[in-house]
Amino acid sequence: MSLNIGAFIDFDPIDKDAWSQFNLIHMLAHQNEYQAMLDQGYPMSLHPLDHDLDDEDNWLGLNYTEHVSQYDVLGLSGLPDLSNVNLQDESQFHDWMLLHYQVHLKVDQTLGLA
Ligand SMILES: [Zn+2]
Repeated sequence: MSLNIGAFIDFDPIDKDAWSQFNLIHMLAHQNEYQAMLDQGYPMSLHPLDHDLDDEDNWLGLNYTEHVSQYDVLGLSGLPDLSNVNLQDESQFHDWMLLHYQVHLKVDQTLGLA
């Protein structure tokens, strides 16, 4: 199963409904990747994140930690720093969304999910 967050990343950062939708799909994408890694025998210690929109710094940190762990276990390199962004800045928001989407795509491709 492939859960592609790509269709949910192009929205106005002040749109709460779009954020909710993104967060749900993104959470499912992480869970999907986590399960695929377990199924394929990768040693995963971290559990997929639950999103807390009210705590953006915490959420960004958790998401980044999880992607560091994925890249580490899968032997991938070139992970951008996803923890350091101001999502209220529209330009930074769009850059981050694209960068983060590409990270998911790389993980999904490596796992044969994409
Ligand atoms: Zn992510």
